[in-house]
Amino acid sequence: MTKEKKLSSHRLTVRILIGMVAGLIFGVVINAISPAEWIEIYVTGGLLHIGGSIFLASLKLLVVPLVLVSLICGAGALEDVKKIGRIGGRMMCYYMCTTATAIALALLLALLIQPGSDFHLDTTASFTAPETPSFVQTVIDIFPTNPVKAMAEGNMLQIIVFAILFGITLPMVGEAGKRLLAIFNDLNEVVMKMVMLLMEFAPYGIFFMIAKVFAGQGFSALLPMLKYFLVVVAALLLHEFLVFGLILKFIVRLNPAIFYKKFRGVLAVAFSTSSSGATLPITLETVEHDLGVPNSIASFAIPLGATINMDGTAIMQGVASVFIAQAYGIDLSLTSYLLIIVTATLASIGTAGVPGVGIITLAMVLRQVGLPVEGIGLIIGVDRLLDMLRTAVNVTGDAVGACYVARAEKQFDLNIYNNEKI
Ligand code: ASP
Repeated sequence: MTKEKKLSSHRLTVRILIGMVAGLIFGVVINAISPAEWIEIYVTGGLLHIGGSIFLASLKLLVVPLVLVSLICGAGALEDVKKIGRIGGRMMCYYMCTTATAIALALLLALLIQPGSDFHLDTTASFTAPETPSFVQTVIDIFPTNPVKAMAEGNMLQIIVFAILFGITLPMVGEAGKRLLAIFNDLNEVVMKMVMLLMEFAPYGIFFMIAKVFAGQGFSALLPMLKYFLVVVAALLLHEFLVFGLILKFIVRLNPAIFYKKFRGVLAVAFSTSSSGATLPITLETVEHDLGVPNSIASFAIPLGATINMDGTAIMQGVASVFIAQAYGIDLSLTSYLLIIVTATLASIGTAGVPGVGIITLAMVLRQVGLPVEGIGLIIGVDRLLDMLRTAVNVTGDAVGACYVARAEKQFDLNIYNNEKI
């Protein structure tokens, strides 16, 4: 990377962090002064809403083309089809193990701190959980019947299946396949450039989105739920820095400090959008260009991770289950805790990478364990803020997973990883 690029990428990260802090302060101030009607109409509902929505739409706009093109290039470059199976197996194993660790950590903290034990159930909680599709249907739905429909609906798993099939067929058709792959590689460069151009606007987009959330979100909802809130935050921070830090250091054998330094821009986008799906273009770009994971692995690991790997969501679901049990005075047996680990792992897999879905799939966990689903009504008020933090943990898990698989496959570029002093 050239010196100017290093500098501009460093400046961009600093600008993003400034946008984030400024948005937070601006939002909190607006909320605290109980603003006049014109501020609500023209600032919160006008400028902040329009600016944030346009940035979010632009991020989402890039997701489908990026996943499709990048994964076709990645799959097309694999000389050996068996490799996809091995990479997929490694990734699934990593996702399952880290998610189960995340929930175990969440349960441990919740049992130690007991956030719901002195909670008085004076609020009448109400929450009606929507129906969840059956497991069998969910598995069948991974396979697309119409690729255009899959893309129009942004159905990530179906797009992944189609792109892999298309990509691995390219080398089987000789010269024609080579020509097409070259075109997809060119397209990939264009879409990646679009991601980089959009990143230039990220500081403003992030400012608008964060300011809007905090302008609308008073902290009064936080007080009665403070203990629950803090336990989830503590578990999220421990997982983000301790668990992932240890995985990076001892399993992936990389310097964690470099990882977090290079990844903070992605964390800011995840935090402000609360959506792993919308953050996907930035995660993919950073993992490939700044961390040194090759396209053949990143293009597979990052979209799959953004769809099914949600450690932060699982943490919230673990703490929430224990909190609701304690608030309702229900004793949980050892079997119930194991059931929470298994069902929250599955529920987090079924959680789409969009804002606020984790709290809905929590209903599945509560039902399996026999806890009152209406307990969700107690915690829903503080969920918007937790969603921001847990999404940041979700995307970190995807990036660490991509590094892990690339290292295990001996395809990681250590020069790129170490060579950046941003
Ligand atoms: N917002 C989370 C994500 O996109 C999902 C959730 O927990 O609601 O990763």
